[in-house]
Amino acid sequence: MKPYELTIAQAMEQLASGALSSRELTQSCLERIKAVDGKVKAFLTVTTEQALGQADEADRMRTRGGISPLCGVPLSIKDLLCTKGIVTSCGSRMLEAYVPPYDATVIEKLKEQGAVILGKVAMDEFAMGSSSENCAFQVPENPWKLGFVSGGSSGGSAASVAALECLGSLGSDTGGSIRQPASLCGIVGMKPTYGLVSRYGLVAFASSLDQIGPLTRDVTDCALMMNAISGYDLKDSTSVQRQVPDLNESLTEGLQGMRIGVPREYFGAGLDPEVRSVVNQGIEVLKGAGAKIIEVSLPHTDYCVAVYYLIATAEASSNLARYDGVSYGFRDLEAKSLMDMYRETRSQGFGPEVKRRILIGTYALSAGYYDAYYKKASQVRTLILDDFDRAFGQCDVLISPVVPTPAWKIGEKVDDPLSLYLSDILTISANLAGIPGMSVPGGFSHQGLPIGIQLQGPHFREDSLMKVGYNLERALNLPPQRPKIS
Ligand code: GLN
Repeated sequence: MKPYELTIAQAMEQLASGALSSRELTQSCLERIKAVDGKVKAFLTVTTEQALGQADEADRMRTRGGISPLCGVPLSIKDLLCTKGIVTSCGSRMLEAYVPPYDATVIEKLKEQGAVILGKVAMDEFAMGSSSENCAFQVPENPWKLGFVSGGSSGGSAASVAALECLGSLGSDTGGSIRQPASLCGIVGMKPTYGLVSRYGLVAFASSLDQIGPLTRDVTDCALMMNAISGYDLKDSTSVQRQVPDLNESLTEGLQGMRIGVPREYFGAGLDPEVRSVVNQGIEVLKGAGAKIIEVSLPHTDYCVAVYYLIATAEASSNLARYDGVSYGFRDLEAKSLMDMYRETRSQGFGPEVKRRILIGTYALSAGYYDAYYKKASQVRTLILDDFDRAFGQCDVLISPVVPTPAWKIGEKVDDPLSLYLSDILTISANLAGIPGMSVPGGFSHQGLPIGIQLQGPHFREDSLMKVGYNLERALNLPPQRPKIS
């Protein structure tokens, strides 16, 4: 096995025994990137020199002892997370040359623990999209089938992990952007409870929905990365002050007494039969592992897409007002007046999807429409949260599909934004409710494209998701994730 093929847990063992150094592991990943990224197109920036320097430092840290599990482990980072001294473009021309003077809290945490940052990966512009085709620079491809989307908006994160270019990645999830690409690329992805992971230094899309989380090759690695990034942060007023559990301890076999709910509304029309059968098989194996399966209802599911696309666009229109060419980022230098400069900077700096969202959001917030749109959407959001509260009175974890279909061809849906919005139906409710959600590989379509299974739990019950995810992974016993990139 080549070093780049290792999971984080396997690498940890080899690093601890001295069989492998972080420099060797990092070099192996850098070579892999050189070999396949021309095709996968996940990386926007590869920080070779810095990564090797961090690897050497990790090797020194290790000899001193008392190190964290991620010490010496090479990771990729979604380009929406601020990295000091490294361009953070958010997939946008607007920030093409933006070099943050500070690290996001999660990056600071990773660095303190000795993790190695290989570079920044592609994404939909400002995280708006479901296929990463809205990236202003390049479109990452699905390592399982080139020419197919890797999902979005954290498509570069998912593609880089699935293509074995790095051992794990950090992404962000506002309406499914970690879970959906994880599902389409056959890896594990978790959106934590709102408030569990600090978002300081995450460029804001929709502040009441955004969360940072890991994308990894398996559930064990997901627990390791969650442990590394969770916790209260004074710099994020929405971060929650509470004890962070060690999620490693949840990785135990057997689900006796666990109640798993199957939300009826998540299996409706439009669900691809292959996706349905993969999820049904997942339900069967959980039953075999001792879980009790019950049918539950989330009656307001039909409203989720409309509510999300009002709230997310309204918040985005406000968050993106700061890109005016004055403080930082792109500025049109030809403009003759201040108003022209604003107009031209925003016209040239933003891509079509971002402009569409700003227009929708501004409209929804405008005087006379606020009550009908934003306020109404916020009220329905509470009903969606109530649905989950009721469901979690009956069960511990919900199981469902992540995306209604496997990955599609690049270009196939670009002219139909509404069909992309509708494909978010199964993931956005977790963001509206603030609950944790996870995608675990479930199987493959007849075309060899991965299909994920979604688990959702009550607030701060990441431990339950880890436990069910771990059992699912064991019981399904899928062959090791090895796409042939050609
Ligand atoms: N696909 C959704 C959107 O376009 C979710 C994106 C995300 O989670 N960042 O808004």
